[in-house]
Amino acid sequence: MFIVAYALIFLLCMVGNALVCFIVLKNRHMRTVTNMFILNLAISDLLVGIFCMPTTLVDNLITGWPFDNATCKMSGLVQGMSVSASVFTLVAIAVESPVISVRRRGALFLVGAACGLVALWQLQLLDSGTMSGFSTEERAAPFSLEYRVFLKNEKGQYISPFHDIPIYADKDVFHMVVEVPRWSNAKMEIATKDPLNPIKQDVKKGKLRYVANLFPYKGYIWNYGAIPQTWEDPGHNDKHTGCCGDNDPIDVCEIGGKVCARGEIIGVKVLGILAMIDEGETDWKVIAINADDPDAANYNDISDVKRLKPGYLEATVDWFRRYKVPDGKPENEFAFNAEFKGKDFAIDIIKSTHDHWKALVTKKTDGKGISCMNTTVSESPFKCDPDAARAIVDVLPPPCESACTVPTDVDKWFHQQKN
Ligand SMILES: [Mg+2]
Repeated sequence: MFIVAYALIFLLCMVGNALVCFIVLKNRHMRTVTNMFILNLAISDLLVGIFCMPTTLVDNLITGWPFDNATCKMSGLVQGMSVSASVFTLVAIAVESPVISVRRRGALFLVGAACGLVALWQLQLLDSGTMSGFSTEERAAPFSLEYRVFLKNEKGQYISPFHDIPIYADKDVFHMVVEVPRWSNAKMEIATKDPLNPIKQDVKKGKLRYVANLFPYKGYIWNYGAIPQTWEDPGHNDKHTGCCGDNDPIDVCEIGGKVCARGEIIGVKVLGILAMIDEGETDWKVIAINADDPDAANYNDISDVKRLKPGYLEATVDWFRRYKVPDGKPENEFAFNAEFKGKDFAIDIIKSTHDHWKALVTKKTDGKGISCMNTTVSESPFKCDPDAARAIVDVLPPPCESACTVPTDVDKWFHQQKN
């Protein structure tokens, strides 16, 4: 029934709008200013019909996006452009109507209107290009040693996700750089020592790292990533854990319903924090929810996670405790008896890691091997111009369409023997 209704709307859209275009273009006397605007409306409707309706239908019928990346971007772009063009055209019609009734419809008018229309579409193109904000650019093939994901700003200039993305997305909303999408295994992380800090897969003893599937979990059980402009200083002894920082931006477990993309920049509401101690280093794990999650309004503190997602926090501790055991490592430990601290405590910790980052990026602390190259932090001696940033990426291998094969043992399930 849904498909029939959809097909009917699609047909009506095609036939109706094509008729409008045909009539206006065929008959010379129909080419008035208002009709040209209506023609513009019909064209934008046709574009939505052709480029967006079929893809949206298939997307609704099948779970996940079945098409490639380019189709996804094009569909959104055409939709955004067409809707905005329609709105602006309607405004133009409203403004134009009284004018034509007074003046004579001359050829000059048509030329003016045509120029206006071209300008409208160009405006839309520019507008749609800037709406998405941050974007990513991949280099080499995923799951290879050379693979990198670079971040770009709204102007398409390369930036560092570690230093150039502001810590705050909004009041009380922090930015999060998604490194590992939920359910996946490849241990992708911000390369703190590489210039521009792209995301790359962690390597141990020359081999790409994948986390094991700890029974009963599959890969990471949250969207996992980091808050930009934070740093767990390895020279600072944390008063809560008695251990120094792990030399990375602070980690985030995002518990929302959506599986995010690698390199996606989202706004998160911070809900709590877990004090993990990983091989003698402090490694805070912030618990947060995507601010765009349909349920985000119901989550304001760690108690809401306990109430609304029972078992999730226990699973989180269990996961972090055991995730390195399959690699022959001991279990991780936690401060505060593995209890989660609430939102206010979490935000205080994040703010202190932000202060440590400030000292790092302004060279008040020596970051040793960390690359602080950035394009936006005005107080930083490591600030460079966009051309210098581009030069870093230009020498790298181009993006690669097909990913490398992931070793089959990544799918293995790890059952821990109770002793
Ligand atoms: Mg960490």
